[in-house]
Amino acid sequence: MIVTIDGPAGSGKSTAARGLARRLGFDFIDTGAMYRAVAHSCREAGIDCTDGQQVTERARQLAIGFDGALVLLDGVDVTRELRSPSISEEASQVAQHPGVRSEMVRQQQALVAQRDLVTEGRDQGTEVFPEAECKFFLEANAEVRAARRREELLARGVEIPLEQTLEQIRQRDHRDRTREISPLRAADDAIRIDSSSLTADEVLDEFERHVRNRQRD
Ligand code: C5P
Repeated sequence: MIVTIDGPAGSGKSTAARGLARRLGFDFIDTGAMYRAVAHSCREAGIDCTDGQQVTERARQLAIGFDGALVLLDGVDVTRELRSPSISEEASQVAQHPGVRSEMVRQQQALVAQRDLVTEGRDQGTEVFPEAECKFFLEANAEVRAARRREELLARGVEIPLEQTLEQIRQRDHRDRTREISPLRAADDAIRIDSSSLTADEVLDEFERHVRNRQRD
């Protein structure tokens, strides 16, 4: 079974997807980490992330893999490097290029190969796995998402004013929702959940309830 979770930055997708995969005994793919890995690699190589051709060439040369919660780039653990606010920004820029998207979609589809999977991102239910048996779209208002992102960064010792985090979230939302290729949107058959006033456990319980119902059908 494939379960997709799409939604904007800070809606709680990663926490929910990881927890759900653990409860169900499914594998998990964080597709945002793949775009982040491309951005990180371009930065290391001195490639301007607005240069579609060079970024696409780079993306095609990369081997992005997962080992549990770790993200591996050409076999090297880059998990920590991928979580900085500047990489968030650059990831959303590299994700605009059609060549990069088609390469990431190819790699994501290749990762599946008959496995039970929870996958999260922006286009998983709409473009990458339109045949998925269970699709979710997770939302929350921008202020709540900014406060969560700020706390997440604070826990890692990075302090950014709330206003700045909110502005970054709004810019990324705008870019993700208005890009020409695979803009962020809910699949027609997705279950929509608003996590603004829910705890992480409540979101997870809700997801699990829906998946178990689908499994029984
Ligand atoms: O989910 P995360 O914040 O790690 O994603 C980083 C960026 O990668 C997003 O802002 C989005 O632009 C891009 N992305 C995407 N499609 C996906 C996953 C992420 O365009 N499936």
